[in-house]
Amino acid sequence: KESWAMMFQRQHMDPDGPSNDSNYCNQMMRRRLMTEGLCKPVNTFIHEPLVDVQAICLQGNIICKNGKPNCHKSSSSMKITDCRVKSSSKYPDCDYHTSHKERHIIVVCGGNPYVPAHFHASV
Ligand code: C5P
Repeated sequence: KESWAMMFQRQHMDPDGPSNDSNYCNQMMRRRLMTEGLCKPVNTFIHEPLVDVQAICLQGNIICKNGKPNCHKSSSSMKITDCRVKSSSKYPDCDYHTSHKERHIIVVCGGNPYVPAHFHASV
């Protein structure tokens, strides 16, 4: 069974990316299995080494939007790609806007070892 930590890596980690083309999200959302059953509306890919993303769990502890205390905000900004489904997209032809950004990211950490389990937000 896929753990939360493995699911986080599948959905959000692309340390060697991005390939600089506007089709990035269309390809990656499909390749990472987020276009099965529905087109996942919003998803962020992180283009930084896994160790640097895992280290966020040791940084600034903040309250999550749901009131839980296990959110952590990266101390540095990170290279990310924001994927958002176009309003014209029709499942199963999932069609995404691709935007490359540099932002601080907020992740939810859990487990032992204490590692990223969910992507919360970029700010
Ligand atoms: O914010 P919300 O709870 O709707 O987010 C649902 C999921 O969308 C998150 O768990 C995350 O996988 C994804 N998401 C994201 N990047 C964002 C916002 C949401 O990857 N900026």
